[in-house]
Amino acid sequence: MSHERAEQSPTELDVLISGGSMGGLATGIALADLGHSPTIYERSTGELKSRGGGIVAQQNIRRFLTQHTSVQPESITTSSSERRYLTASGGLERSVSEEMVFTSWDALYRQLRDAVPAERYRMGEEVVGVTTESATAAFEDGRERSADLLIVAEGGQSSTRNQLFPGTAPSFADYVAWRGVIPESSLPSAVRDEFDETFTFYQGTDQLVLAYFIPGPDGSTTPGERRLNWVWYDTVNGDDRRDIFTDTTGTERRVTVPPGRLRDPIRASQRERAAALPPVFETVVAETPELFVQAIYDLSVPEMVVDRVCLLGDSAFVARPHTAAGTAKAVGDAVTLAGALSDHESVDQALTSWNQTRRAYGTRLVSRGKRMGDERLHLGS
Ligand SMILES: Cc1cc2nc3c(=O)[nH]c(=O)nc-3n(C[C@H](O)[C@H](O)[C@H](O)COP(=O)(O)OP(=O)(O)OC[C@H]3O[C@@H](n4cnc5c(N)ncnc54)[C@H](O)[C@@H]3O)c2cc1C
Repeated sequence: MSHERAEQSPTELDVLISGGSMGGLATGIALADLGHSPTIYERSTGELKSRGGGIVAQQNIRRFLTQHTSVQPESITTSSSERRYLTASGGLERSVSEEMVFTSWDALYRQLRDAVPAERYRMGEEVVGVTTESATAAFEDGRERSADLLIVAEGGQSSTRNQLFPGTAPSFADYVAWRGVIPESSLPSAVRDEFDETFTFYQGTDQLVLAYFIPGPDGSTTPGERRLNWVWYDTVNGDDRRDIFTDTTGTERRVTVPPGRLRDPIRASQRERAAALPPVFETVVAETPELFVQAIYDLSVPEMVVDRVCLLGDSAFVARPHTAAGTAKAVGDAVTLAGALSDHESVDQALTSWNQTRRAYGTRLVSRGKRMGDERLHLGS
């Protein structure tokens, strides 16, 4: 890299962002607010649709909304004041006071998406290769664009990460999360009351299930209009995994079988397994219109910066969902990158400092997620 480029001042940078989900959006918003010129390229052709539903709205996500968007976090979040553990027969095993704040993936996505001007968010544009020194992105149609900085926010299956670190791949953690959301209005009132204001768990021998309320499909947080979000971690062996992840079209998927794509026998057999859960969870699983499933993975990159390319969010580190930190980490990566560019004299100094702190954070989080998951699912590693 030329001396001049290495010493470039981090002001009014032209930035390309590959990936327009939580990480890409948060980075685009944070950088634009500091006077940089980010453009987001998202390969999907339509509005992204929630894969799951619920996310824990950690404090840094709420702070981001307050500082960078026009929405007040309270208007798109639900909360609980108690964490409860049930016995297999449905009794209360123990409970602790704990304030938690939740939102839905779609409500958060909509707010972040609305904060980015249309001309800065290009849909249907896939990055197929990068040149790190010149921060150049090559697109599927053969075009190329170069900038001061290129951000890779392509998620856990990032193709650019594969290009930069061919030996680094997500590794399967030997269990999956069955998931679903159910409208509050479809729940029997006794079941609804059981979950209201609580973060409820059942810890079985090699499974863990939890549920909490999230906003409704239109973002409403009014009781009666919310949805119950549940996650059921369950171990699987190799053959079962292949079977589960082969969808209704016969395609074997790697990470998620989305709502509507699970084959009937798979869905039926998982609903049968729910008989071993506390009765309220059994009811919730039985009444959920569409179950779906996601494989649990760990991923760590050796570096988050290569020349003028930065990897962030799930492209860089995927920590297990027990850490409740996937979206919070993507937002944290974005905010700290913007902060580092403000605090340093040159782009290179900023990237070196950001790489060090966020890589350490991501590494710690992935380790913590492994410990938490293996303990809860009683997996030896
Ligand atoms: C549609 C969708 C729904 C989700 N739903 C939930 C949920 O309900 N609950 C939950 O906890 N987590 C959910 N997640 C995951 C969660 O958003 C992420 O784990 C976390 O927020 C980190 O976000 P990210 O931006 O790093 O990665 P991701 O959210 O995975 O986003 C990566 C984005 O990059 C795009 N992309 C990938 N490769 C390219 C390329 N080469 N060129 C251009 N674009 C590319 C993808 O289409 C995607 O939009 C969802 C993710 C997506 C994409």
